[in-house]
Order: sequence, then structure tokens, then C-alpha cells
Amino acid sequence: DDRVARIASSIRVIPDFPKPGIMFQDITTMLLDPVAFKDTIDLFVERYREKDISVVAGVEARGFIFGPPIALALGAKFVPIRKPNKLPGAVISEEYSLEYGTDKMEMHVGAVQTGERVLIIDDLIATGGTLAAAIKLLERVGANVVECACVIELADLKGRDRLGDKPVFVLVSST
Ligand code: IMP
Repeated sequence: DDRVARIASSIRVIPDFPKPGIMFQDITTMLLDPVAFKDTIDLFVERYREKDISVVAGVEARGFIFGPPIALALGAKFVPIRKPNKLPGAVISEEYSLEYGTDKMEMHVGAVQTGERVLIIDDLIATGGTLAAAIKLLERVGANVVECACVIELADLKGRDRLGDKPVFVLVSST
């Protein structure tokens, strides 16, 4: 699909952000190219249109950029999965490990019902720890996580291996 080449070249790489040695994949330059941004949304919508998805769950923060337009096009709910202490209502939370220490993500109680078919969206999969925690959170409320979708995969980090048999769909694989 030649849309993918334009998407890939619209993503900027910033060396040494946020720390020395990290090559940060910056999707904000893609958002400046309305064709690349629309193609990104369209490619996801085309993949999930006939999949009976009733929830698109977006992971803070950049899952909040890509998730809502996909949810609207699919006629699905959008559910934010947030960093701790951001959501005002009752939450369920899932702790997960980072390189140093741990972090937590939270979702509103009642946002997703047992048996709902969920698509999880984020901008990027690196080690897979973030998506693994999001999957756990949704499965704890009885959801059926159909797939995770990201714009970018850092393939060398083998994040997929951490998600067991849960499929991950990516547009751009970076090494
Ligand atoms: P993981 O948990 O190691 O897979 O890291 C994925 C999470 O970190 C996602 O929520 C990404 O938004 C964020 N992340 C890690 N590296 C990058 C990057 O290079 N660009 C943008 N986001 C990143």
C-alpha cells in the first residue's frame, strides 16, 4: 500500500529524547500532513470495519490522537486508558513495570462491558509493557481484546513476544 510510505516518511526521529541514546519517533510531524494523518486513520478503519468492534480503547497520550477518529468511523465507543489520578470517576487500575520502577494505568469502571469486542490503540509499541498492561486491564472487566494497533513498531525490542497470542497490527516497522 503506497499510503504507508508517505506515513513512514512523515514521522520524524529525534535523537536523545527524552534521554541520551533514545531515538524518539515523533508522530506530531505526521499530524502536520493531513493526507498522511487521514491515510493512517483510513488504514485502521479499513482493517476493523467488518470486525464488530464496539470499543476503541486509546492509551494516554498519543492513543488519544488516533483512537477517537477511528472510533467515530467504526461507530464504536472511545474509552481513554489514563495515567494514574487523572480520571474523575471510580477506576480499576493495573500496575506495570518500567525500566526503572513501576507505573500504573487506569480506566473508568463501567466504561466497558463484559464480552465487548475491543481494539486497543497506541502510537508505538516498544517493549510491549504498555500494551500488555492495557490488555490485562480490559480482560479484567471481561472484555474481548480483538487486537492492538499501533502506527509504529520498534521491531528489535520484540514487544510482540510480551503479548502472548494477542495480535498486534502496525503500519510502520522501524529497526
Ligand atoms: P513500551 O511499553 O515499551 O512498549 O513503550 C510504548 C509506550 O511508550 C507507548 O505508550 C509509546 O507512546 C511510548 N514510547 C516509547 N518510545 C517511543 C517513541 O520513540 N516515540 C513515541 N512514543 C514512544
